[in-house]
Amino acid sequence: MAYRRTRCPTIGDMLREVWDVLSSCQKCGLVMQVDLADMIKLRGPKVVLWNRKARCRRIGCSGFVEFQAMAPGIYMHESLRPSDPMPWCI
Ligand SMILES: [Zn+2]
Repeated sequence: MAYRRTRCPTIGDMLREVWDVLSSCQKCGLVMQVDLADMIKLRGPKVVLWNRKARCRRIGCSGFVEFQAMAPGIYMHESLRPSDPMPWCI
C-alpha cells in the first residue's frame, strides 16, 4: 500500500489508475462509494485522500468518515488511514 501511495497521491492519479474508493463512517457505519470524477469536478484533481477524514454525509450523524481504496489487481479495500506505518513521501 505504501508503494501505491507514492504512485497515486491524488484523486486525479487514483481516477487515472482506476482505483475504487469508499468512504466509511466510524460512528454510524455508513459506507458510500466515492465518485472520483465528480470530486475532481468539484475540488480539482490535486485533492489527497490519504490520511484525510471528512464529515459523514448522513443527516444527523456527527461522525467522520475515513477513506478506503482498492487498487487495480487488489481484491480488497485498504484503509488510507494515518496509522499507515509508512511515512508520507512526496
Ligand atoms: Zn455517520
